[in-house]
Amino acid sequence: MSRIKLLSDDLINQIAAGEIVERPASALKELVENSLDANARTIEVFLQNGGKSKIVIQDDGEGIDKSDLHMAVQRHATSKLHDDNLFNIKSYGFRGEALPSIASVSCFSLESRGFGINVNFSEESDIFPSSIDNGTRVSIQNLFGRTPARLKFLKSDTVELTACLNVIENIALIRPNVNFSLRTDEKQILSFSKASLDERVSKIFGSALLKKAIPFEEKGEHISVSGYLFHPLDNRYSQHFQRIFINGRIVKDKAVSLALKNAYKELIPAGRFAVALIFIEIDPFHLDANISPTKSEVRFRDNVSVQKFLTDAFRKNIHKFDKISNEFEIIRIAEKQASENDTPVEKPKIYQGSHPSFNIADFSRIADKSAVTARQNADFSEKVAITEGALALAIREEDVHEKSIEPLFSPDTTYISIYGKPLAQIFNSYIITEVDDGILIIDQHAVHEKITQNKIINNLTKDNKQYLLKPEIIGLNNSEQEIAKNLLASLDECGFSAEIIQNTIMVTAIPSILKLEEALQFIHDILASDEPIRDIETLDMIRKRIADKACHNSIRFGRKLSIEEMNEILKQMEETPSIHQCNHHRPSFFKISKSQLEKMMQRG
Ligand code: ADP
Ligand code: MG
Repeated sequence: MSRIKLLSDDLINQIAAGEIVERPASALKELVENSLDANARTIEVFLQNGGKSKIVIQDDGEGIDKSDLHMAVQRHATSKLHDDNLFNIKSYGFRGEALPSIASVSCFSLESRGFGINVNFSEESDIFPSSIDNGTRVSIQNLFGRTPARLKFLKSDTVELTACLNVIENIALIRPNVNFSLRTDEKQILSFSKASLDERVSKIFGSALLKKAIPFEEKGEHISVSGYLFHPLDNRYSQHFQRIFINGRIVKDKAVSLALKNAYKELIPAGRFAVALIFIEIDPFHLDANISPTKSEVRFRDNVSVQKFLTDAFRKNIHKFDKISNEFEIIRIAEKQASENDTPVEKPKIYQGSHPSFNIADFSRIADKSAVTARQNADFSEKVAITEGALALAIREEDVHEKSIEPLFSPDTTYISIYGKPLAQIFNSYIITEVDDGILIIDQHAVHEKITQNKIINNLTKDNKQYLLKPEIIGLNNSEQEIAKNLLASLDECGFSAEIIQNTIMVTAIPSILKLEEALQFIHDILASDEPIRDIETLDMIRKRIADKACHNSIRFGRKLSIEEMNEILKQMEETPSIHQCNHHRPSFFKISKSQLEKMMQRG
């Protein structure tokens, strides 16, 4: 008896759905792309519970004829492949899989030109009359209602909503001439009316960032690239703000990310990422867009030459930042002089005590100034970059100006630590101490960093706030607003006070251990995190991240220490948990025992 049977259509659809529909956002992406393929000019989206309970999308595109409604929900049925040539695809869709896949895992309905069809977990209804006669309306309810295993993988409503927002934002970037709106039961979350690319970019990335960005366009033989390279000092914690489009599709592409990384290499500290908006147009013959069911990855026929073309194109344009940097340099010097003259321009205006009353009527006035704040932030990030980039130089300078350096700690000369009695310092980097049965060699930089980190973490509590004289306003794009909402409670626990007003976050207090610039930079960074980080962000992680950042800014390498200072470090080592391992998981000290020494000297 034969045991091998063909799978039922329903099962085939469900398997395909597993590949295409991971979460509400991926279903939404397919539907928006269908609307664009139908030449829609206005696309309205409605979501309930981040799309988990309901997604409705209404467009004003060409629509579907009554006679095609049934075909539209069949597998491998498409109106978009005309000549059986997979290398000449001009539409988003071509596999004819999205609708049947979504319809196999939800209560689905498709309405157009006065008629509609329902598909309830693959079960098709008869065609029914509908009030929708202009464009097409698709509705998905109860997504994964019959596949609890998949349902389990969905995240909180806010996270799913954020993912949907990202989908719309990305598509809106490639189609600025289309109106998009997105609303939930509670409110209108996003509304983009038809605009120029510049206006769209400004709406999504923020006008402060856009002002310093370099728009560019370069042409090659079968390929051209255009877009915006953002200022190196506006770098972010994650790659989330590198939006890459190839032939109109948003993709994740290693070749392009690598080209960006190479081009910005000298300008951005390790572990940070440039913000960039990249549109690549390539002859479809030189691209395989069909390597993943969601079409989120592509393959270039000639990866090496594409990568070279892109790196050259990015480099050539990044050079233009030199001019802008000079401008920054002048502002920086001017500010430095101002602060030396003791005018309060650069110093954060901070006072300890209760929060001053803040009149909401002042808000719009302050919001107007937010461009200025953004500029100050940029200047700050520039300083960080300069500090990080020029660290090696600074170390040498510190050696020269030893006497003018403040002590690391105020020393307590009477204490003898369990980490021994300091004997000497070598290479301006290691402390040698004598303990009962041997010697310790201590990496002063590693332990100092750990001590600082621990102090900062312990200090990041609700009780250690410093209120700002003037609230700081940071502009938020849509997805940032969602992240910000999620983080408010944790930020409060760490010593921030912030609230969201319209499309901004207003910071009224910051942890007392941080400088204003550090605190604001942190908020920028955490808002730019991409999904996985958002999701697991806990209070501990936030504390650790703030501490890492603050430590990074406070590191001193190669610093000559007095015996008193060494003693103080040893004492503080005792108060620091896990001091044996530095923040980068390397040992921070090691011991040579007396018996090891004797063996080496062949005395044993
Ligand atoms: P594909 O997009 O790969 O063709 P889909 O399953 O997404 O496959 O859609 C099947 C067909 O349904 C499309 O080829 C198109 O003809 C029709 N269709 C789907 N959505 C729309 C829409 N919003 N407007 C007009 N036609 C649509
Ligand atoms: Mg489609």
